This record gives sequence, structure tokens and C-alpha cells, in this order.
Amino acid sequence: MIRDILVYPDKKLKLISKEVLSFDATLHELLDDLYDTMCERNGVGLAAIQVGIAQRILIINIPLEVEEGVHDQPKENTLEMINPIILEKEGSALFQEGCLSLPGVYEDVERAKHVKVAYFDREGNKQIIEDDDFLSIAMQHEIDHLDGKVFIEKLSYIKRKKFEKEWKKVLKGA
Ligand SMILES: [Zn+2]
Repeated sequence: MIRDILVYPDKKLKLISKEVLSFDATLHELLDDLYDTMCERNGVGLAAIQVGIAQRILIINIPLEVEEGVHDQPKENTLEMINPIILEKEGSALFQEGCLSLPGVYEDVERAKHVKVAYFDREGNKQIIEDDDFLSIAMQHEIDHLDGKVFIEKLSYIKRKKFEKEWKKVLKGA
């Protein structure tokens, strides 16, 4: 089921999400809904708080190029992370980021290049993953959502001011 995505500056996006305690059917349904919602909007990641649920749950699915210009995000490739914790961070990298809660906004953001993250899968099994490429950036972006942060908060003061001014115009026009 496709759920509505909260748009910045919805106050709920500032909430600190709570740990998941039971790995039950409700969790599985939410994970499935997050996937449907993310795919419908052509996203690569989505955190539960973006659909208004303040629990430490996120998904990431980096599209595969199946042929030139044609991308696919098969469900079995979805990384489902529950209660993720960044264990290690190293280096720095600049990537252009976007967010389904800020449609149409793309900005360069500096983050750690390499991260090692511990998390639980949908069955409650503990997992560890490391990455130093786009997945690393995506995990840091989504984990920020669980702590009430959106990527534009990482912009410089001047860029942020400019963004807020332009975003007001976008929201008025919507
Ligand atoms: Zn986001």
C-alpha cells in the first residue's frame, strides 16, 4: 500500500524515532508499504518517519541499470534496516543528495565516505554492513531521518537561507 509522504517542514520530520521492540506482522506490513511508496516516487530510500511513523526503520534500494537508461529496483534487493547504529565512520565524500520529503531539491552534501552499520533485519536478526560508496551516503542520509534531521540542515548558512527562501515559493505555488 502506498502511504503519504510528509513534506518539509512538517514538524513530525523533526521527531527522534523510537527503537523497534517487536518484529511482527505490523512491522512487515510497514516495510512492504515503505517499498511500494518509495518505488512509486522513484526514490532510493525512505525512513518510516517520512510516512509519519516515529520508529527506527528505514529502507534503501539502489536501482540497477538493467539496460541503458532503464532502471529496476527489485524488492529482493531492498535493504531493510531496523534500529541501525553507525559503528564506524571514516573519510569524507561529497555527493548530490535528494529526498522524497523535499521533492525537486538536490544539493551537494559532505558526509563520511566509509561507514560500518549494525542493524536488525525484519526477522530480528542482527546484521552488519559496510560500504564506502553511494550506499554509505544513503545509509547516513536515512539514519539522519531517524534522529529528526533532513539533509538540507547540512548546508552552509548562506545556502540554507537561499534554499528556505526558494522552498517557501515552491510551497506557495503547490
Ligand atoms: Zn530523505
